[in-house]
Amino acid sequence: MTDPGMKCSRCQAPARHRFPAHNARFCDPCLERFIERQVERAIKQFAMLEPGQKVLVAVSGGKDSLTAWQVLRRLGYAAEGVHVSLELGAGEFSAASLAACAEMAGRLQAPLHVFRMADLTGLTVEEVARANRRSFCSVCGTLKRYYLNKLALDLGFPVLATGHHLDDEAGRLLGNLIHRHHEFLENQWPALEGAPGGFAKKIKPLCRLAGREIKAYAKVHGLPVASGHCPRAKGATLPYYQEAMQLLEDRMPGTTRILYLGFLEEKDGPPPLPDVQAVCSVCGAPTWAEVCTTCRFLQRAREQKQARANEASAAG
Ligand code: AMP
Ligand code: ZN
Repeated sequence: MTDPGMKCSRCQAPARHRFPAHNARFCDPCLERFIERQVERAIKQFAMLEPGQKVLVAVSGGKDSLTAWQVLRRLGYAAEGVHVSLELGAGEFSAASLAACAEMAGRLQAPLHVFRMADLTGLTVEEVARANRRSFCSVCGTLKRYYLNKLALDLGFPVLATGHHLDDEAGRLLGNLIHRHHEFLENQWPALEGAPGGFAKKIKPLCRLAGREIKAYAKVHGLPVASGHCPRAKGATLPYYQEAMQLLEDRMPGTTRILYLGFLEEKDGPPPLPDVQAVCSVCGAPTWAEVCTTCRFLQRAREQKQARANEASAAG
């Protein structure tokens, strides 16, 4: 990737990072400036945060969310972390993820709020997925989004930040365009306003940065990134769109930015606030249905678990 003798585009010092999409080469200090400037630009461009504002960062233990947390702190935001421990499979991946978040909190001297999915729901993700005949990944995603939003509100944070970056968003956009998911296309925007009592504002401060740019930053800073992959990440289709984007990016550097940032520029601005009048009769969250998706998922899984227990005790 890098040539010996390569010079930093900003300061002419020996460079270690080459980003063809920006036609730029950076030394370590200039890489850091580049990353922070891109985050600052995203925050400003999409009106994500007020200076110094309180924000809760959803940290998974991966490079993206840990980078988001560190950069937001360095830019002066009162950023605290929240981690939902999923305790999947043999548990090693989940334990390593939690340990990475805890180490990062120690480094940043920032509070980390930790919750176990099993405590939040009284069920495992597996039980919820099976009872509802849904793919593990989609149920896990639904539960994570629901609880991260709820936890942000319960902890008194008006804004929730995630580590989604340019490649994530461009891959998602490609999928939405191919399948003409008009509603998703309308709502794809890196800062979604909140609604008091119902939704925290959701922001993606890394939306102008590619995965490999973030990876370089995490490496230079020696961030305590959890290694390994989710043992259950099978059946998700997003990675295919991301692979397709990566192929185009490798052949034609800058394509990812052109697709995603160009798409946002052509829009009039953020999507309108969701006009949800009703609230879930179980949890009180805003919803279009009588009972929200998450509460429906949980109800069905609890019923199934109870029925199994009854059968077992009848048999025994
Ligand atoms: P993913 O869908 O796994 O790529 O995650 C996208 C973003 O969601 C991450 O960058 C984090 O900000 C957040 N996230 C994912 N998993 C968790 C978790 N277990 N706890 C808290 N935040 C998470
Ligand atoms: Zn509900």
